[in-house]
Amino acid sequence: MAYYPEPVARLIEAFQKLPGVGPKTAQRQAFFLLKRPAEEVNELAEALRELKTRIRHCRECFNVTEEDPCRICRDPARDARALCVVEEPNDLLALERTGEFRGRYHVLLGALSPLDGIGPEDIKVRELLARLEGQGLEEVILATNPSVEGEATAIYLAKLLKPLGLRVTRIARGLPVGGDLEYADEVTLSKALEGRREMR
Ligand SMILES: [Zn+2]
Repeated sequence: MAYYPEPVARLIEAFQKLPGVGPKTAQRQAFFLLKRPAEEVNELAEALRELKTRIRHCRECFNVTEEDPCRICRDPARDARALCVVEEPNDLLALERTGEFRGRYHVLLGALSPLDGIGPEDIKVRELLARLEGQGLEEVILATNPSVEGEATAIYLAKLLKPLGLRVTRIARGLPVGGDLEYADEVTLSKALEGRREMR
């Protein structure tokens, strides 16, 4: 086990918790920062601090936002008849980039995964149901990922929502199976949205 001064060891440990960062990369980044000017490192520290103090989840849709409710929920020009359900804020951003969807969103902050012990009460399902009443909503588009968890979540939600008399649709296949919405290109994503089908 290599010896590092405590602050360096602490930073390496913190970096290693980031996705895709192993011990070697963590070490390289820590020593890289050590060589950078103090202002630059402070700027990074400040950005990290503000991430948690200024950014929160929108109380309506659970997107990440600086203002609550978020820009999309506040926008009167958005179509209140359609609600698009996604797993994570990154998926919402991917769909927004297509410019194809003009309705509102609901971010579940996860997907059902019985094997990992993640049930409906662990994601924003109850909050979704609470949003459905009295808002002139006609269609719920299930845009969860084309993964096992995403499909299971879509099927579960369809069963829950259909009896409420709403049109429930699922974005078209054609997205890479097991992939994430956030990594799909805009054309593929637009097509998936356009080719959505009614769920049975
Ligand atoms: Zn919102």
